[in-house]
Amino acid sequence: MDKNQIVEQTSVSQVRKVVQAVVEVLREPPAADISPSVAANSFEADSLRAEMIAVGRKLWQRQYVDGNGGNISARLGSKYVLCTPTMMSKGDLVPADICLSDLDGNILAGDRMRTSEILLHLEIYKANPLARAVLHCHPPHATAFAMTGSAPPNGYLAEYEFFIGIAAVAPYETPGTQAFAETVLPFVQDHNAILLANHGAVFWSDTVTHAEWLAEVLDTYCRNWVIARQIGRPLQAISDDKIVELMALKRRMGLPDPRLGRVQVATQEGTVNEGEIERLVERVVARLEDRG
Ligand SMILES: [Zn+2]
Repeated sequence: MDKNQIVEQTSVSQVRKVVQAVVEVLREPPAADISPSVAANSFEADSLRAEMIAVGRKLWQRQYVDGNGGNISARLGSKYVLCTPTMMSKGDLVPADICLSDLDGNILAGDRMRTSEILLHLEIYKANPLARAVLHCHPPHATAFAMTGSAPPNGYLAEYEFFIGIAAVAPYETPGTQAFAETVLPFVQDHNAILLANHGAVFWSDTVTHAEWLAEVLDTYCRNWVIARQIGRPLQAISDDKIVELMALKRRMGLPDPRLGRVQVATQEGTVNEGEIERLVERVVARLEDRG
């Protein structure tokens, strides 16, 4: 990869950050005090509920959720979160089951009790504004790794390196508690997939569908790893320079990875640097917030 390619990809990633910041502001109507009932009855809420129900069925069909296990949520505008209820199989959800919560976990619309694990989702949303959807489940192969308190080793499968990279492992805490919710905080900026020790895994992404893809990618990789180890031949790792190429692609796609900091980013005259981009984003957001 030559210098010009890296510069071009860096610029793309900077522009992506600006666009994401603008989109976040535009999600909310100018009247910032949109009521919970208006939010819950909006077209966006209808579409999110349909997506959550479809993803719930996929999770159950793939055996990633057992009993009433697992939960799904999605941000609605800047103030609200739609989430699955407690004590329901994720394979049986209907639109009326989905609750509307604020960022403090207060239920504002919906007849059912929210999942107690919404606290985990809310901590992720508050810590990382790029997270628009959070999904927690118990995929068997990933959960097997969580039972060992370790993540699968890196460097053996391009798909896994690209979409997830390094899975974090959060320490065990009693599920449903605030202490449990906060175990993921050290990891939510650089990791979109976090194994929860002795429990399962949690994923965040821009959409519910993409968060479910991450669950599939992680569980498949954990299964691949276990099978490959049984073949009886040494595993063949992807070379470091090819991992660097994958990191450059991840940067371009806006995917998190703690290794991104290790990729040398070239600068040249005329290229906007990160600090200038941050200030530009702040100015755009301030202007848009004032428009109402
Ligand atoms: Zn769980």
